[in-house]
Parts: sequence; structure tokens; C-alpha cells
Amino acid sequence: MTTRVCPACSTDNRQVRAHPYSRDEWQLKTCQKCRFVYLENAPRYEDLDTSLAWEKSLPAEKVRRRKEEPLLHKLNAPIKRFRKHVMKRNKLAALVRKHFGPGAILDVGCGSGRRTAELGEIYIPHGVEISSRLAAQAQELFASRGGRVVHNDGVGGLAQFPNDQFVGVIMCAYLEHEVQPQRALQEGYRVLRPGGRLIIKVPNYGSLNRRIRKDRWCGIRLPDHVNYFTPANLRQMVVASGLQVAQFNALDRIPSSDNMWLVAEKPR
Ligand SMILES: [Zn+2]
Repeated sequence: MTTRVCPACSTDNRQVRAHPYSRDEWQLKTCQKCRFVYLENAPRYEDLDTSLAWEKSLPAEKVRRRKEEPLLHKLNAPIKRFRKHVMKRNKLAALVRKHFGPGAILDVGCGSGRRTAELGEIYIPHGVEISSRLAAQAQELFASRGGRVVHNDGVGGLAQFPNDQFVGVIMCAYLEHEVQPQRALQEGYRVLRPGGRLIIKVPNYGSLNRRIRKDRWCGIRLPDHVNYFTPANLRQMVVASGLQVAQFNALDRIPSSDNMWLVAEKPR
């Protein structure tokens, strides 16, 4: 494990009492200076590739939640499936069509590569993936289209691409896992061409569901989720990395949704 300072403002919060959503050995903290909520003792990247990789921990987590709230799970499952398969995929595709010109794009945390490959033939897909098994699958898909996949953590993988290379970068369901989110955004800035755009999707810690369900909210995943963004501190971190906010309207951060979407641009 690594002990972290606040990822947004670098304040050391070791003396601060653990957040009530902390569980087992996992210590969530609310930064005493900027109020950012984060996991202080995050797992190491090496563990993420092996014992804690989400593809492995997801089934166990699902069983745990089903046991805790069997009725709710039953009611929620069909709605979640619909949102996952229809709405969310369409939202990413729609944002990509609106904001990315044709050319090389990079999906950080690309998984098996399927969602990136499906975005259209005008894009040359590239990726970074921490799971070796998924990275190999994505590499096969992307190589046939002229792209490549780096098997690494997000920041380490981004570092292997040159400056100003991409018309678009995707960070969907990635920044909440990244122990250095500010660094990741700075790297996103570096690899984008001037005028290139970055699409971000993260769970919204400010959502209604989180306020109602508290530590049972689906966005609280310990230790996989190490950063808990609100609309305000997501915007702040994006701007601090040198990017401009291109789109972050009311529909991109509706409080009734568990997630929020932000599109940022590297200034020309
Ligand atoms: Zn802070």
C-alpha cells in the first residue's frame, strides 16, 4: 500500500479522522483544506494487476451487495442493465462524434478495447490497460487498425506516448481508480494536440443517490475507487492541469445520475 496526501491540493491528512464510509483496513479521508474525499492507503499498481484487478474483484463485490440488500438488487438489476448497455454507450459515442475530429485517439483504461474499436473507422485506436489479459485482447483489436496498446498503469502508460499525438483522449471510469489523478490529467494534456479534447466520466460523489445511500452507494468501491469527485473538484483539477472545460452542462452532471461527464480541451 502507499500512503497518499490529498490528490487535489497535496495536504497531508494523516491526522484527520477516517471518513465514516471507511471499511476494513481502507481509510477514506476528507481533505481538511479542500474537502476532496479520497482513499489514503491506496493499493499499489502491482496489486491492481494481480489480486485486486477489477475484473476479478467485481464478482465478489456483486455477491457482497446482493447479500446485503437482496430486494433492492432485484429491482435495480434490469434498470442498471438497460442504462449500462444502451444509455452509457450512446453517451460516449455521441460525445466522441461531437468533440473528436478523425485521427489517432487514446483510451486510458481501455479494457478489452471493444468500446474504443466500436467508435468508428475514422479513428485510429490506442490504449493503456493495467490488466495484462485485457491489454493483450485490446492490442489484437487495435493493431489491425494501426494503433497500439501499452500494458501499464494509467500514468506510466500515458508517459510512453509522444507530445501532441492525439485528437482525442478518453478517460471513462479511470480517474476514480488513479492514485495520481492530477498527474494523469497533465499527461492527458501533454499527449493531446492543441485543440484536441479529453472526455472524462467519473462517479459523481455529489449525486443524490450517494447522499441517500451513503456508504452503500454503488460508487463507493474499496479499495478500487481511490478518488471521489464532486462536480466542483473535478472541474478544479481539470483546470489546474492546463486544460479548458469545453462541455460540462447540467445534463452532464444531473444529481439523479451516479456518474458525470466532462469534456476538456487543450488550448490552441
Ligand atoms: Zn485537498
